[in-house]
Parts: sequence; C-alpha cells; structure tokens
Amino acid sequence: MDWKNLPSGGGGIEDRRGGGGIPGGGIAVGGIGGLIIALIAMFFGINPGDILGGGDGGPVQTQTQPQTQSQPQGTPATDENFQFMDRIMTSTNQVWGGVFQQAGRTYTPARLVLYTRGTQGGCGVASSASGPFYCPLDNKVYIDTNFFSMMQRRLGGGGDFAYSYVVAHEVGHHVQNELGIADQVERKQRSARTEAEANSYSVRLELQADCFAGVWGNRVRDLAKITQADVQNAVNTAQAIGDDNLQRQGAGRVVPDSFTHGSSQQRITWFTTGFETGDPNKCDTFNQNYNQL
Ligand SMILES: [Zn+2]
Repeated sequence: MDWKNLPSGGGGIEDRRGGGGIPGGGIAVGGIGGLIIALIAMFFGINPGDILGGGDGGPVQTQTQPQTQSQPQGTPATDENFQFMDRIMTSTNQVWGGVFQQAGRTYTPARLVLYTRGTQGGCGVASSASGPFYCPLDNKVYIDTNFFSMMQRRLGGGGDFAYSYVVAHEVGHHVQNELGIADQVERKQRSARTEAEANSYSVRLELQADCFAGVWGNRVRDLAKITQADVQNAVNTAQAIGDDNLQRQGAGRVVPDSFTHGSSQQRITWFTTGFETGDPNKCDTFNQNYNQL
C-alpha cells in the first residue's frame, strides 16, 4: 500500500500525544479499571457509546487543516504516524462525503483524536486499554498510537492497510451514526427480550462497519496501490480480532451468544463484500438472516 498517495489535510486530527493523561482527573488509566475495560471491549468496539449511538453529533466542523493542540512534549505533527492518520482520515471522509452527496445527504466529517496513555473525550475517559473506538457524541474516533504496535505484537495483524482498516472501521461507525442506524439499533436493543437478541444487533452493526471499511478500501484501491498482500494482512487482522478467536484465547471456548463483533469468518466476509463491490448498499447486514451473516 502506498498511503502517501492519499489526500491529506482533511483529517481533523487533534494531536494529544505526549500529554499527561486525564486533565484534572488524575491518571485513570491502566490498572484494574483499564483491565476491565479491555476485557469488555477488546479491540475495536468498545465504549458503550460505540453501540449506543445517539446525540445530534455536536458541532459541525469541516476544517481542512490538521489541528494540533495539547502537544506539550514536542511531538512534531509532521511525523509519519500523524501523516498516515491524516491521510487515512482525509480519504475516508472524502469517500463518504462523496457517497452522501450522491444520495443527496449531508455528511459531517469524522474527526480523530490521537493520544497516548489516556484522554478525556465526549464519551468519557479514553485509556490505552480501550482500544480504538468511535464516540457518537462528539463525532470523533479515539486512537492510542501505541495500539498499532500492540496489534502487531499480540494479534499478529500488521501492515499499513491493516491499520487503515481499523481506522476505516471506526469511521464506519461514524457513517452509521450519520445515517441514524446507530439510533435505530439502540432502540431495538432496548426492546430486545434477551441478551442474545441485543447482542445480535451489535454483531450486525459491527459487521456493517467492517463492510463500510471495505467500501473505503475499494474506492482508494488504485490511488493507494492496495495489493492482494495488503488485503491478506487486513483479513488476518480481522481473523485475529473476531470474537470467537478472542474468546478462544481468553476463556478457551466459544460462546456464540455473547458475540458482539461477529466471528472471524463473518468479519472477513463482510469486509470483503465492501472491498469487492465498493457499494455501501451491499452492506445491509440488518436484512440478512442472522444465521447466514
Ligand atoms: Zn466497531
């Protein structure tokens, strides 16, 4: 993948790396609390806000220049991580801006908060243990930059396109929020009779975000020179972070009813659907027989 070919300057990035944790709130990260969050959320999903949508999205901001703030320890905003994130965010926002425009709808670009250790966000405290997540209350994706090295070490997923897929998945949740899908899911979950039924909506939501990530991949495939090997890396990542795989590593057995992100195979299937078609209408995970997802 040649991500440097992607457009830049529209990522709406807040660079909070090198900060001292939570302003005014002490360092509420790591430790037991962080561990519990990690166990509940695992990577990708996360924060209840990730699923429970809602809100009107907060102030609309369509900035075109990278925003830097809280950069006390001199992390230059021109470093490669920042450039990478900016280009992935810029291109995802452009792709979805185009899709919405074609449908006669308005798209509010998602923004990205890069942080280390912990930071305060619209959905509460983001810690290193939360993994990447999207907060529908402030329209921002939160990513601890150390996540990607952890992903490579522990999940066996790596490579630029695999990292891009993580970001594009979170932006997929933003798209769901913009479309009102997140709200609908929240309502259905509230009226669900069993936990398994409530979880099934989460799975559909997560698989759709995977499919949306694939749509982005399709639309930048030529520009970013995405190769079959890149896709394989992303698929390996999807495999490593499917709920069944995480549960096998954790509890040693698979309990399908508690899946909230979908199995490895489901995640691969839906990512590939988006990637091969480039058509968001093919990402309708809600009108599929649940057993055939
Ligand atoms: Zn997710």
